Amino acid sequence: MLAGRILTPEGWVTGTIEFGQRIDRIAAAPADTGLTILPGFIDLHVHGAAGVDIMRGGDAGAVVAREHARHGTTSLLGTTMTAHEPAIRHALAGLAGVIAQRPERGARMLGVHLEGPFISAHRLGAQPPHVMPATLELVQSLDAIAPIRVLTMAPEVPGHLALIPQLAALGMRVQVGHSNGSYDDGVAALRAGAAGFTHLFNGMTGMDHYQPGIVDAALAHAEYAEIIPDLQHVHPGAILAALRAIPRAYGITDATAATGMPDGEYALGSQRVYKCLGCVRLATGSLAGSVLTMDQALRNLVGMGLDLADASHRLSLYPADYLGETERGRLVPGAWADIVVLDQDLQPVAVHVEGEAIL
Ligand SMILES: [Zn+2]
Repeated sequence: MLAGRILTPEGWVTGTIEFGQRIDRIAAAPADTGLTILPGFIDLHVHGAAGVDIMRGGDAGAVVAREHARHGTTSLLGTTMTAHEPAIRHALAGLAGVIAQRPERGARMLGVHLEGPFISAHRLGAQPPHVMPATLELVQSLDAIAPIRVLTMAPEVPGHLALIPQLAALGMRVQVGHSNGSYDDGVAALRAGAAGFTHLFNGMTGMDHYQPGIVDAALAHAEYAEIIPDLQHVHPGAILAALRAIPRAYGITDATAATGMPDGEYALGSQRVYKCLGCVRLATGSLAGSVLTMDQALRNLVGMGLDLADASHRLSLYPADYLGETERGRLVPGAWADIVVLDQDLQPVAVHVEGEAIL
């Protein structure tokens, strides 16, 4: 049982929360503990942590799930990089084991976010240039290794638009990202069944009021979109604009192996990246993922002026709903006991994953 100020989908309750693997009861009671109790964070875009990259395969996903759990993340998607097909298959084979069995003291790996190789060669960002067009057969054969929940693609690549409804029918959330497409390409992708946008603003055509891009399509029409609130990838003003335009825009970390590590040199897929001053960059200087954790994302959003409940929804409830995970991302009886407890500075003092105490 925990006591404090508890965020439920209906609002704040001061009182107690009782749970085993699932939440049994939330009751109002005097609870002057100074603690804030939120649903655990759900991070749909994670490449690594603790010196380990998901592309390493094997037990990399377990290491990553444990490190992020210490920062309040209770479920996540292991995210692959653009790479040659055998390297992607190797990473997925490793993730399959971690998805099948939650690592002890680790977050729940809900599946895979396939970030490439079905992206634009003109909007690689930190992805290496091993792009290829998607086919239904290829995606299905990758999905057979480990379940793909989110798939990033550039809709302007010939053949991709027609594929979107087929992938959506398989239950995947198709996201527009790493795209050099126009506003019309973005709108067409949404009409075809795309559900979201990958790290909005980064790796896509930007706002232009004469020649609108993918960002404009998202701001004008999207219900959901990822955004990286590390205050490095997107200016806070642009984050606030996006949150106003996109009702259920949600935060992701895009965290790399350098997360939770000292400054230095790390792997990002097949590339070398450098952590310094809270950023990860390629040797060219371009940003290459983040070192963000979800508890820091919460503090950043609150620091920008978001109401705490709104900030929490954007890190738990909305990503859960986006994936259709209605038993996660919310503190209600019957839901998984995925819980983060924060002190008055919003630092995690306890984390429970499916009832297991991690911190
Ligand atoms: Zn990424």
